[in-house]
Amino acid sequence: MNRVLLDLQQLDTQILGLSRAKKALDDGTSARTQRDATRTLLEAARVEERGVGQTRRSREGELEATEAKIARQKARLGSSSSAGDVAALERDLVGLSHARGELDETILELMDEGEELQKRIEQLESELLKNEEEVALIEADFASQSGALDKQMAAKRVARPAIANMLSPAETEKYGASFKKFAGVGVSEAVKGVCSACGTSLSRDFLRDAAGEAFPQCESCGRLIFVGAS
Ligand SMILES: [Zn+2]
Repeated sequence: MNRVLLDLQQLDTQILGLSRAKKALDDGTSARTQRDATRTLLEAARVEERGVGQTRRSREGELEATEAKIARQKARLGSSSSAGDVAALERDLVGLSHARGELDETILELMDEGEELQKRIEQLESELLKNEEEVALIEADFASQSGALDKQMAAKRVARPAIANMLSPAETEKYGASFKKFAGVGVSEAVKGVCSACGTSLSRDFLRDAAGEAFPQCESCGRLIFVGAS
């Protein structure tokens, strides 16, 4: 068998290896997904914090109005002489004071909630910053590594025609068919009597005959096999 078939296989194996290495590189997809998830959480926390702030301001307005009303009713109570008015004003003041107590409590709760959300926002902001740094790092790494692999692949591809052109049409056809059938490794080599692709020990008879054949195939896996003259 023409040794060039094996040379071409070795070159194609290198090209395939480089292409697989490129595919295996981390292009930053998962880091970007993580970053986007953090950003979504941060935006949601900011919206929630704004909502809590608005509710708190509106309750504070209600508290102010309630306190003003309490002051007014107290003034009226001070100047009232009718027993019926006094009783009504006192009932009103009990209700107002109860409402004020509830508003005070609600405002305190909303302040706590706002502080918790503020803490969470700060945590998420620092997490987002880390995520963004991670993405930038991985993307830069990917660019340099894939660039290096592209360069190596391009050099191999440029070298390929010179080798491929040394094959006869029949050899080219056999090579192509075997390459396809065996998913990229269509030509093996007998190394110390063993098929380099499937690892089977080849018989003495096979090795002797194969050395002189144009397209010998491994007894076990069926790949074209280069058997050097012993
Ligand atoms: Zn084999």
